[in-house]
Amino acid sequence: MPTAPLALIAELTHRCPLRCVYCSNPLELRARSEELSTETWVRAFEEAAQLGTLHVHLTGGEPLARSDLTPLVLAARSAGLYTNLITSGIGLNEKRLSSLVEAGLDHIQLSFQDAEESSANTIAGCSAHAQKVAVARLISETRLAFTVNLVVHRRNLDRLEEIISFAERLRPHRIEIAHVQYYGWALRNREALLPTLDQVQESVAVVERAKERLKGIKIDFVTPDYYAAFPKPCMGGWARLLMVVDPSGKALPCHAAGVIPGLKFENVKEKSLRWIWEESSSFRRFRGEDWMPEPCRTCERRTQDFGGCRCQAFLVTGDAAATDPVCSLSPHRHLIEAVLERINLSPLAGDIGSSAEPGAGNVKALDTDLALRQRWAYRTNPAGVWERPEL
Ligand code: SF4
Ligand code: SF4
Repeated sequence: MPTAPLALIAELTHRCPLRCVYCSNPLELRARSEELSTETWVRAFEEAAQLGTLHVHLTGGEPLARSDLTPLVLAARSAGLYTNLITSGIGLNEKRLSSLVEAGLDHIQLSFQDAEESSANTIAGCSAHAQKVAVARLISETRLAFTVNLVVHRRNLDRLEEIISFAERLRPHRIEIAHVQYYGWALRNREALLPTLDQVQESVAVVERAKERLKGIKIDFVTPDYYAAFPKPCMGGWARLLMVVDPSGKALPCHAAGVIPGLKFENVKEKSLRWIWEESSSFRRFRGEDWMPEPCRTCERRTQDFGGCRCQAFLVTGDAAATDPVCSLSPHRHLIEAVLERINLSPLAGDIGSSAEPGAGNVKALDTDLALRQRWAYRTNPAGVWERPEL
């Protein structure tokens, strides 16, 4: 029997006031009309706690787009879960923040696109940076554990030193620097976002220097797995540590797992979290080692990386049961090498828009360079429209 999931990742909504070009939400975003009710989320939190889960990550989209966020935090905390809010900060003001603190929120992760306003707004697809800085100040004055998330990629990596100094001034307890992961919208913009090898190597040195300097702030750094010899232990192994519930109630072993055809994802409206975790076919499909092909099946690293990411295997090779193609032992590694070769031999070939679909996004009033923005594949609803929620 599998041990309980350590954390429940609750995607409360796919609505978001931003539309980042690296967003890992699925291309088929869930509409507001499909979202779970407050009561169903509360039941899910109680079931998670009974199962032995310790944390809930309240995420999205933008969880602040849910007007019931404070009662949801209260319910999760009352169930005994450690509560972490992952947010862009847009929609957070002093009053709302104090109601979340009073409800028992433990930790907040606030994401930034850059240190430089116009670049940050271009990546986010809207004007958001200045509001985020103001929100960071509010958070730093509360009792909350505070992490600043920095998403890095080809367009901002050369400014990493400056971006870390910017984050430091926001007074967080922790800085998480994570390279874009190539799912969802990020995969569409992959060749514009993937850094060169020189950039990655320099960024490692920059982070090492920052760790030396910032003794009081913990820094976590996630490098792009395309450049690694072995894959990341994605989600800590399929259905091994984490459980995701999407805005409509579908339970998934990974936020991107919906791309894998042939899997039936159960809904928390119909099945208990315990049954889904222990019995459902989708959670059992890639759990453990029985599904593994060679070279994973006999590889000594299989208990460390669990064969890598099933979603990445499907997105790159078309076979979700293949060894993660970023692995240097994978028979599909040449597909990754081909992408890296394009990026590194001809950096301009990977310039903005090379993988963007024409016409994607509903680009209207913009406060930075219009032409530049129109070349990204910005996040939209399935009808190709950017729906900005009221906050
Ligand atoms: S990555 Fe950007 S667009 Fe996607 S949910 Fe987060 S803030 Fe919203
Ligand atoms: S062959 Fe499989 S188990 Fe071995 S390192 Fe590569 S992905 Fe991991």
